[in-house]
Amino acid sequence: MTIEQIINEVKKNDSSADIDLLKLAYDFAKIAHQGQKRLDEEPYIQHSLHTAFMLAQIKADLSTVTAGLLHDTIEDSEHTFENIEKNFGAEIANLVQGITKLGTVKYRGVERYKENLRKMFLAMVDDLRVVLIKFCDRLHNLRTLNALSKEKQLRIAKETLEIYAPIAGLLGVWRLKWQMEDICFKYLHPEEFQKLKHKYEVVKKIEHKKFIEKTKHILEKELQKANIQHQIEGRFKHLYNIYQKMQRKDKKFHEIYDVFALRIIVPTIADCYKVLGIVHAIWWPKMDRFKDYISMPKPNGYQSLHTTVFGYDDKLTEFQIRTQEMHDAALYGIAAHWHYKEKGDLKKPQKQPFWIKEILNAQREAKNTHDFITEVKLNIFHNRIFVFSPKGDVFDLPEEATAIDFAYAVHTEIGDKATGALINEKMSVLSQQLKNGDMVEIIIEKNRKHPNRAWLKFAKTHRAKSKIKQHIKVKSL
Ligand code: MN
Repeated sequence: MTIEQIINEVKKNDSSADIDLLKLAYDFAKIAHQGQKRLDEEPYIQHSLHTAFMLAQIKADLSTVTAGLLHDTIEDSEHTFENIEKNFGAEIANLVQGITKLGTVKYRGVERYKENLRKMFLAMVDDLRVVLIKFCDRLHNLRTLNALSKEKQLRIAKETLEIYAPIAGLLGVWRLKWQMEDICFKYLHPEEFQKLKHKYEVVKKIEHKKFIEKTKHILEKELQKANIQHQIEGRFKHLYNIYQKMQRKDKKFHEIYDVFALRIIVPTIADCYKVLGIVHAIWWPKMDRFKDYISMPKPNGYQSLHTTVFGYDDKLTEFQIRTQEMHDAALYGIAAHWHYKEKGDLKKPQKQPFWIKEILNAQREAKNTHDFITEVKLNIFHNRIFVFSPKGDVFDLPEEATAIDFAYAVHTEIGDKATGALINEKMSVLSQQLKNGDMVEIIIEKNRKHPNRAWLKFAKTHRAKSKIKQHIKVKSL
């Protein structure tokens, strides 16, 4: 990896970016890490370069990429905060210091887990960009995990899967989440990983020749006729996700992997609907599989048109149709959000977890960083807790929320059919109050039809209460 590669990547996002700043940071970091080597014998500066490159890839802003180059200079060299501040200003120095603070963890075992989690949330409160740097730092450490002892490999993989990957999902940085998860999967379940990887590659090869190329060919001809600029992509490999689905639903690989998918990226929203029309004119749609997440985005802000058709040779084929902006948001989440905000292209308010929106608002409105931090600390993270599902999804709930609130936050049906909860792997009642960092799994009773009126006594969220009341009303009609 070279500094030129990073400069090119940054220029793709912003052609007027201050390249001199990057070069300066590179020289600074190179001298700071002079003579240092990673455990895999690579010069240390390679780690800084890779971290910065990944940040540029997810469209992080220039300060963040620069801080990525400098991120280990306080921790691993003689430099101080003041030193960085003098050379690069307070904003970048604060980012580097934020990363340094995240790096030192005192405890072991469960305590270590909690400490890590708490630190991540505190860092997010200070400046969300610190967490983005941490993800890229971690991802490069994962990619070079081979050089470490078995014990360390397992600890780092487990910690990533439990803490960093879920938070990356929470912030919508899916690309980093998936990459982290697949590497952790490889270290934690090596046999399953290899088996699945092999199956995936075999299927993909056959799929590719038999269907994808033909489908692309047919579609491309029609899109050219309609004069629609487009880009067609195959499915993104995500083995850990397939593995989780097989475990959770007790299904075989081919049952999960039965439909093949293509993604079409076009310039405008109007083009998305035009392409949908073209796809449906070529192949017969499977009616119950059409979803318009453009006019009705998912709660996490995700936007796309999804449709499944009886495609080439009658093979079920899913199409995801979206604009470049939607595509970036789906892969890079909060990082892309800033990118589009800066460019002024973000016309529509995004539907994201409420607190992300509030953080972004606070960032926009605050006169200075100090005001911003105070606002976030006092008003946004105040009275909220973060609870995890076993598959790593994070839910934000009000303080004093109970297991039933969590059940309804996951899905209405889970709420309606809930009978109990496993909280941190211990059996608990639905009225149990949840704490920050709890891992919760809801036990359901399949045949149950209605929620219990008594739940209203301990449901705290508006969502849970209204869902329970809805059923009581229906029943009394
Ligand atoms: Mn590092």
